[in-house]
Amino acid sequence: MEKTTDKIPTILIVGAGIGGLSFYHSVRKNLGQKFKVKIFERETSPQDRWQGYNLFINRKGITSLFYCTPVEVQARLPEAMPDPIPKEKHSITIVDHVGRCLLSLPQYKAKNVYEIESLKHDFAGIVTYRNILRDVLLEGVDIQWGKKCVGYEESDDGVWVLFEDGTREFGDLLIGADGINSPIRKQKVPDLEIFDLGVAGVDVDVAISKDLAERLMSIYGNSLLQQSIGRNGDSSFSIMRFIPIDQLDVPRYRITFSYNYPTNLDIKDNILIDDNDPNSVIKHTISRIKQSRPPCELTDLMIEIFSLVPFSHPGEKHPFRTYNPPRRRQLRDINPLSVPPWNDDRIVLLGDAAHAMTPRLGLGRRPVDQGIT
Ligand SMILES: Cc1cc2nc3c(=O)[nH]c(=O)nc-3n(C[C@H](O)[C@H](O)[C@H](O)COP(=O)(O)OP(=O)(O)OC[C@H]3O[C@@H](n4cnc5c(N)ncnc54)[C@H](O)[C@@H]3O)c2cc1C
Repeated sequence: MEKTTDKIPTILIVGAGIGGLSFYHSVRKNLGQKFKVKIFERETSPQDRWQGYNLFINRKGITSLFYCTPVEVQARLPEAMPDPIPKEKHSITIVDHVGRCLLSLPQYKAKNVYEIESLKHDFAGIVTYRNILRDVLLEGVDIQWGKKCVGYEESDDGVWVLFEDGTREFGDLLIGADGINSPIRKQKVPDLEIFDLGVAGVDVDVAISKDLAERLMSIYGNSLLQQSIGRNGDSSFSIMRFIPIDQLDVPRYRITFSYNYPTNLDIKDNILIDDNDPNSVIKHTISRIKQSRPPCELTDLMIEIFSLVPFSHPGEKHPFRTYNPPRRRQLRDINPLSVPPWNDDRIVLLGDAAHAMTPRLGLGRRPVDQGIT
């Protein structure tokens, strides 16, 4: 049978995360009617899963976001990245174990997200609420929810994407935007090596008081991206906005806080921690901080922040089906030398599926989903 040449090709996207949604919008916006595009997501609804903490998006990221998204989405971006307030410095300050400044990157001030691109400086950027960004990117996208991809089959004239529920879809191009544990990547690059960087990390999202936020800000010269390098191979990394998260009489601020230390400390001490019990993880993290850090205001603040974790759980106010409670995660990375060259075909990997990397090299990425299994 002769093939028709005027057929509109179909792009299948698996994964409605930040990457898959941006790509969907970009095809619609920049390629118009040249392609049909369908997007599939394993979650059953937008509320299925807690969608993450604060992250920093630099100017390159903001520029790409504007390139990809239509005006309706752009109009809503300030929901996810509210206008900077005078006190905030959307930049990183790195201090030592007692809070002495080692490095403070300059801030290129923008009044709002719309001005960042024109600053023409890649240090410019904005601290963003990831969960709201995901919500905003859902605008106008017709997602097929509850479609968990389990693999694909290529044929001469296209590709089938296969779902756990036994259904399948045919298209011309398959975009694997299915995140760090991508089944599409596992099929396309089966022999990938993942190496362990020997660093354990505990990431938490905490609601803190104004007083605590101010004490932290004063150590970091009002920078919203904060790193402290310890002397025992440990470090902390935090990202916050100095904007209250709720309208209570006593305002609270949201901080994403990560404490990292050499994994071998746990092995050496033969410590038994129950990673399925958040209290055990928090107790252990606090004792790790006390062992690794000298008594000082910064150490006290770190301990205070971790002590608040049990009171900051999304709980009933945010009824997600799944939520990542605090646990130790090992930082892992793909060994790039283990990725063989591949021929051009109909399968393309996008975002974390292609490029899951350590948050320390991720220019603003954080380690929430580094738990590769
Ligand atoms: C819940 C969550 C919270 C995060 N929090 C932060 C954070 O606070 N800070 C930060 O810097 N980074 C965070 N990240 C990571 C960061 O957002 C990613 O680096 C970035 O989103 C990469 O985008 P992505 O679209 O490639 O992958 P992801 O955002 O991981 O999106 C992948 C999507 O694919 C879906 N999916 C996975 N497997 C399948 C399957 N088999 N079939 C169908 N769909 C599938 C997932 O449900 C997800 O919606 C988080 C990621 C997630 C998923």
